[in-house]
Amino acid sequence: MEVRANAKLNLTLDVLGKRPDGYHDLRMIMQSVELADVLNLEYNETGELRVCTNLHFLPNNDKNLAAQAALRWWEARGEKPRGLDIAIEKRIPVCAGMAGGSSDAAAVLRALNARERSPLSPAEVARIGERVGSDVPYCVIGGTALAEGRGELLTHLPPLPHCWVVLCKPEFSISTPALFAKIDSVRLRCRPDTQGAIDALEAGDLTGVARRLYNVFEDALPDRQRARVSDIKNVLIQCGALGASMSGTGPTAFGLFDSEDRALEAQARLTGLGGEIFLTQTV
Ligand code: ATP
Repeated sequence: MEVRANAKLNLTLDVLGKRPDGYHDLRMIMQSVELADVLNLEYNETGELRVCTNLHFLPNNDKNLAAQAALRWWEARGEKPRGLDIAIEKRIPVCAGMAGGSSDAAAVLRALNARERSPLSPAEVARIGERVGSDVPYCVIGGTALAEGRGELLTHLPPLPHCWVVLCKPEFSISTPALFAKIDSVRLRCRPDTQGAIDALEAGDLTGVARRLYNVFEDALPDRQRARVSDIKNVLIQCGALGASMSGTGPTAFGLFDSEDRALEAQARLTGLGGEIFLTQTV
């Protein structure tokens, strides 16, 4: 079974507050892009659950989110774990705010579900994914969606009109728990106009969405890292991006383009300034 695991971007990301259970209430518009990991799943006779990837530093045991998804799948189905080999070709940068691990987990759930004689609905698969991580339910469904609560409460939105996306993952990584801890003490300069972005999606207005890209976590970044993200966004805008922002808890910054030529120019300008650069498009 070969299956693709698409990366996601946050068109908007707002933190509404901390909950009594320690999690944060979020409100964010998610968007899938073509950039994807590729997974191959094959049942084996050894009875073992084995994971291998092209990145030596990722876990190859049941700490890998792809393996956790398989375990949760069998648990939810009331079945005994089976021997399964999962080979992951990672293309989505790791710890980048693009839900790479969650997307791998979602891809495993979709693949296992597709083999069932009576497959579950996407919403049912998403509920199993919730046990693996808060971003997994969205990754099961994909496309353009509003995610609320911890990220598991999903509402489908009209698709973002097709556009090119240039992404730059700077050379450093961000600790997601540290940034969540910091966001409570930071005075946010501004909040995203989530409803305005939804209205723009409903009108099929790419420029209207791009003007409203906003992520409150940028305010919580340490100064040097915020400056680096800001520099990348400036280059994207100078090259003609309709809007630019950071995805998730970062540090990947991205710009949306309605012209492939301008996107190619941005890719060329960013190449050589450090980090990993990708040119992709919306799904
Ligand atoms: P998010 O946007 O959901 O916050 P992220 O892009 O910041 O996610 P990931 O790339 O998903 O972060 O990885 C985060 C952590 O998960 C890493 O520490 C990594 O070791 C671990 N991990 C486990 N399984 C995987 C996987 N299949 N792919 C990537 N990372 C994985």
